[in-house]
Amino acid sequence: MNESNIMNWHQLSADECLVHYGVEKDIGYSESQIEGLHKQYGLNTLRKEEKESLIMRFLKQFHHVLIYVLLAAALITALLSHWIDTFVILGVVLINALVGLIQEGKAEQALNELKAFLSPTARAIRGGKVKTIEAEKIVPGDIILLKSGDRVPADLRIIEAINLRVDESMLTGESEAVELHSEPIIGDPGLADRTNIGYAGTLVTSGRGQGVVVATGQETELGKIQDMMSGVEELTTPLIRSMNVFSRQLSVVIVIVSLSILGIGYFLIQLEPTELFLSVIALAVASIPEGLPALLSITLAIGVQKMARRNAIIRKLPAVETLGALTVICTDKTGTLTQNEMTVTQIVTPKNRYSVSGVGYEPHGEIKHSKGEKTICEEFPDLKALLESARHCNDSQVYKGMDGNWKLEGEPTEGALITLAKKGHLIERAGKRIETLPFESENKYMSVIQDFESGERRLLVKGAVEKVLSFCDLSDSELEEWEGQIKDLAGEGLRVMGFADRTLTLGHDSIETELRKPLTFLGLVGIIDPPREEAIRAIDQCQKAGITIKMITGDHAQTASAIGKRVGIQNYSQVITGTGLDQNTTDKDWELCAEKYSIFARAQPEHKLRLVEAFQRKNQIVAMTGDGVNDAPALKRADVGIAMGIKGTDVTKDAAAMVLTDDNFESIAAAVSQGRTTYSNLRKAIIFILPTNGAEALMVISSILLGFSLPITPVQLLWVNMVTAVTLALALAFEPEEKRVMQQEPRATNAPILGTYFIWRIIWVALLVGGGAIALFFYYKGHYNIDYARTIALNTLVAGQVFYLLNSRHLYESCLSFEGLFGNPKVLIAGLALLFFQMSITYAPFMQNWFGTLSITGYDWILLSTVGFVVFIAVEIEKAIYRKLNNMKNQ
Ligand code: ATP
Repeated sequence: MNESNIMNWHQLSADECLVHYGVEKDIGYSESQIEGLHKQYGLNTLRKEEKESLIMRFLKQFHHVLIYVLLAAALITALLSHWIDTFVILGVVLINALVGLIQEGKAEQALNELKAFLSPTARAIRGGKVKTIEAEKIVPGDIILLKSGDRVPADLRIIEAINLRVDESMLTGESEAVELHSEPIIGDPGLADRTNIGYAGTLVTSGRGQGVVVATGQETELGKIQDMMSGVEELTTPLIRSMNVFSRQLSVVIVIVSLSILGIGYFLIQLEPTELFLSVIALAVASIPEGLPALLSITLAIGVQKMARRNAIIRKLPAVETLGALTVICTDKTGTLTQNEMTVTQIVTPKNRYSVSGVGYEPHGEIKHSKGEKTICEEFPDLKALLESARHCNDSQVYKGMDGNWKLEGEPTEGALITLAKKGHLIERAGKRIETLPFESENKYMSVIQDFESGERRLLVKGAVEKVLSFCDLSDSELEEWEGQIKDLAGEGLRVMGFADRTLTLGHDSIETELRKPLTFLGLVGIIDPPREEAIRAIDQCQKAGITIKMITGDHAQTASAIGKRVGIQNYSQVITGTGLDQNTTDKDWELCAEKYSIFARAQPEHKLRLVEAFQRKNQIVAMTGDGVNDAPALKRADVGIAMGIKGTDVTKDAAAMVLTDDNFESIAAAVSQGRTTYSNLRKAIIFILPTNGAEALMVISSILLGFSLPITPVQLLWVNMVTAVTLALALAFEPEEKRVMQQEPRATNAPILGTYFIWRIIWVALLVGGGAIALFFYYKGHYNIDYARTIALNTLVAGQVFYLLNSRHLYESCLSFEGLFGNPKVLIAGLALLFFQMSITYAPFMQNWFGTLSITGYDWILLSTVGFVVFIAVEIEKAIYRKLNNMKNQ
């Protein structure tokens, strides 16, 4: 039965909707009811997009210029009745397609893992408690809480709304946020005008609310449109895209060169046509780097998986490369550099000073009067008033979990205040909240009107202390005194919060109007939020890697600076506040500020955007962290937008290129170093593969032009390309992080991928390997028959690659060390696998039949390995000369 289609939820009153599901607003379903309901309604997910059939995906692997060239080669060899060549070429095409299919599957698996990491959650009331649950476990009748930044997890009939505005543009195309309410609507208006329904997939832009679920999964309006936002794109980055273009262009060039050589060979040198055709086919198949595109995407997939394991989920893949080029990281403070486990340690009221013991949300600890004795709030009215404000102007909950540990549902700052009230033995008899002005980062305070059991009605405020002071009418000397207190507490790195209240009389106005009349300042508290040890290390690492760290926080200037000092931010004493930033008028001013200051305190989300822009005008590559809805534009604009996985809202995550699952700065540093490693592994793969093709092309071209028989046949070339691509090259994708990766300056983004130096290396190695194979071929051709000499040439080529793989482990550094030779076990495994393949092609009789190889002797192996060894040494010497010329130290 499709209830949501039959029921006109918008016409019913909120109570009628609740009655329909038999739930109460503040209790929701009990856990025991939920199981049965899951069976009845299924998961709250959308139907998966139909996947392409396996056959289609397999056939797609053949759609590539390179494969067309190979198929043409197969056709020509068939016409020449060289059946073995035909079958081998077709076999290679088939293996290539299979490998492509498997690698595609692996890459897809990596992306799916990322999607699973990003699976959304929602806050629901179950069994009278607020619980964070997986969005897919929501059932119709669940009571869901909404706050700004949330993505609405299912279609909800709103039952309570406080300034609740949602962005429905993905459903209705209407870009302006819509205000939602809980009143019934008469008639049958269109979706956009059913303003008491929150639709799945829409985004809460401000306020808070509560709703009862009326449709889930495919039954929702979103399900009907089946417009799932996938979040992660296909596996590619600018480097990979440009390499794909490069390999396509290369294929075209190779075809042209091959045809020209065919022309020269036939008309000018007048070679025998069959032999010539085969040579040209050999040239084409040899010079195309078949393995490269697949190799690059697998390297990227491995990099992305490694980052995920280190708590950084990449949503936009080009970010992997950009991360390696970052020059500035702008980070939040709370939770990212600090533990976000808040504990109140100090209280100052107009009359007294108190200290508070105990750590975390566990209410064990006591409040001590400055004279030293333990205190409960009933004895001190000044303390009691402050605690009441702290407790009731509060939307969070602290409770003892099943495991006996104290848990928080809500915000750490508020949790600390609840625990404080418990430590002061504040009696929590139920009063009633009349009105709420929720906390928003822009305002930096929260206010409620609360009825107390005594019958008294009060306006309560808590928030950033300057803000709260601005609501009170204090004399200059009083203000001066408070400022002194604030400076003392903030200077110790404590978060300072202020509290105020006023008793309301009959006929009072709304909160906003009442806040214009003076309040009584109740005092302040100092909250400790210890720095994360690992952040200290990570900041040091980033700064050594040439990256400037800037802290952008909503907290007080002194608190921020004190924390900046503790975590080791350079120039932590250069602090500017949001108000200071607002004095900037020109772009130039912003650029100066961005460069000069390290700590931006009491900042607003719009400051983040202007700072990102200022840095980018100065050619910096910027990462910016964020959690709130209003951080999204800055995150989108930044080169790498980083959203907090725990604290962050869905809106921010959507805008970000990377999501941290643990909100920890250390994960940013880890992602930077992995980003640099992945980029360098991609380059290593390219620099490893291209000389192989170069060497092969050299062998074939010189044989045609200088008129000697091919040192290696087309099928043998294909064999070499295939076995080395699936063994040797793949090992480079697993190259671990190099020691110096975080000791170098960030890579310049406009630097070419290879640059002249590496182009020179590619040519150098191609000459060494190709030349070595030709030399041995000639040596053996003089003494043995041609098939024997070819077998030697084939194995020399492979030996050259095996040794060159060792060189390729480090682009600049020496590999002549234990680490250099044995540091990546995958290289050794790949080497052994290749040895097995080479043994079989050289000695297995059926392979000898197919590939025209012959058994060779142990002495031959020693000789051809020597050529490989010479290649290795020659490349190491070349690297050493480069290091010397560029004054690089070997690490
Ligand atoms: P970050 O360093 O990550 O920017 P922050 O916690 O310092 O985080 P905000 O969350 O914007 O930044 O908070 C700004 C200020 O608002 C805090 O310093 C605090 O004084 C005040 N504040 C924070 N949470 C609340 C709350 N729930 N109610 C009232 N005031 C709050």
